[in-house]
Amino acid sequence: MSHDPSLAQADPEIHGLIRAEDQRQRESLRLIASENYASRAVLEAGAASLTNKYAEGYPGRRYYEGMDNIDPLERIAIDRAKALFGAEHANVQPYSGSPANLAVLLGLCSPGDVTMGLSLPAGGHLTHGWKVSASGIYYKSVQYGVRQSDHRIDLDQVRELAREHRPKLIWVGHSAYPRTLDFAAFAEIASEVDAHLVADIAHIAGLVVGGAHPSPIPHCAAVTTTTHKTLRGPRGGLILCRKAHAKAIDKAVFPGLQGGPHNHATAAKAVAFHEAAQPSFREYAQRVVANAKALAEALMGRGYELVTGGTDNHLMLVDLSNRGISGRVAAKALNGCGIELNGNSIPFDERKPFDPSGVRIGAAALSSRGLAPAHMATVAELIDAGVTEAAANEGEVSEAFATQLRGRVAEFLSDFPAPGL
Ligand SMILES: *Cc1c(COP(=O)(O)O)cnc(C)c1O
Repeated sequence: MSHDPSLAQADPEIHGLIRAEDQRQRESLRLIASENYASRAVLEAGAASLTNKYAEGYPGRRYYEGMDNIDPLERIAIDRAKALFGAEHANVQPYSGSPANLAVLLGLCSPGDVTMGLSLPAGGHLTHGWKVSASGIYYKSVQYGVRQSDHRIDLDQVRELAREHRPKLIWVGHSAYPRTLDFAAFAEIASEVDAHLVADIAHIAGLVVGGAHPSPIPHCAAVTTTTHKTLRGPRGGLILCRKAHAKAIDKAVFPGLQGGPHNHATAAKAVAFHEAAQPSFREYAQRVVANAKALAEALMGRGYELVTGGTDNHLMLVDLSNRGISGRVAAKALNGCGIELNGNSIPFDERKPFDPSGVRIGAAALSSRGLAPAHMATVAELIDAGVTEAAANEGEVSEAFATQLRGRVAEFLSDFPAPGL
């Protein structure tokens, strides 16, 4: 018997769950806007022996020996990130998007400082000052929203609040906003009140590097992102910033917030940055937006109401109020049918966040499988079939119906191999 058995031999239970998850991701229509398929190369790098190594500090300034390979690797990741985004400085160590945001707060603000961010119910992220998050507990958070009339970010309100509260830092970014962000307009407001403008492009980083959304880099003191959403990298975070803030940001990440960097994640990030620098990724980013627009049109053609009436990016918010079903119930029913999306609050939602009126739909993952705008009519039809059946049956779908729709989904997707699996 081997002293170092394979996962299948050593732990069949966990191995079995991982293989089952591969299968699930292969056969389901994955429409959760924050999710994607990382490539085989990214997954391979993320599973490397680099996980065994401690490397507290930064390249050339470490607290541990044996940096022969880790230093060059992290330098490559940094250089690739800077080149990809056109940034002056990059920190590739944040464990994920939330720690990256906390590091920026730690680096650029003092506890108790005023910050401003898009509120969670309007499509913002917890870490932009929502009250239950550290960003809302240790900093005084003022939240802006979207206009009641058209559900777009209300820049007049942002300016008014900024003048009134004089924030130290203004967040611009979202987890559920279907329209282009006007970084230049935010920068103008930030400069008027002498605030740091920080863009969190966790959702749209892939679109930014692929030229399908304007870049925040020229307008911001710092930019944070996850690496695993539209960017198609491993689960992780990244901070880009101006040279003037490099020291403060690096100090905030380590030793301010984190210990040893996850070198295996750093390697996988480097691979993802390389992939994202290829011409094929530009094509991918453009197709993500084209697919989202086509899917939005197809859903509206079937009578669905979209927040803001469509999308400019990879995601859309569908208001199900006119369908007699809540977002959560619809998402649960669809999940049984092999269609994965999430219930989501819509602006000024009258329902509770746990059982909101809408669903959020993203096109990043299905675009990674090679689906094109011409396929979006079928995607809309599959979604509509599930929602209509669930709405007609008090939110439930029969096992027979679910099996039949799951079969149709798997059959439809069988022409589009899932990367990495
Ligand atoms: C996903 C997301 C994050 C957090 O990322 P985690 O990796 O889940 O911590 C931060 N900001 C925005 C805008 C996000 O959408």
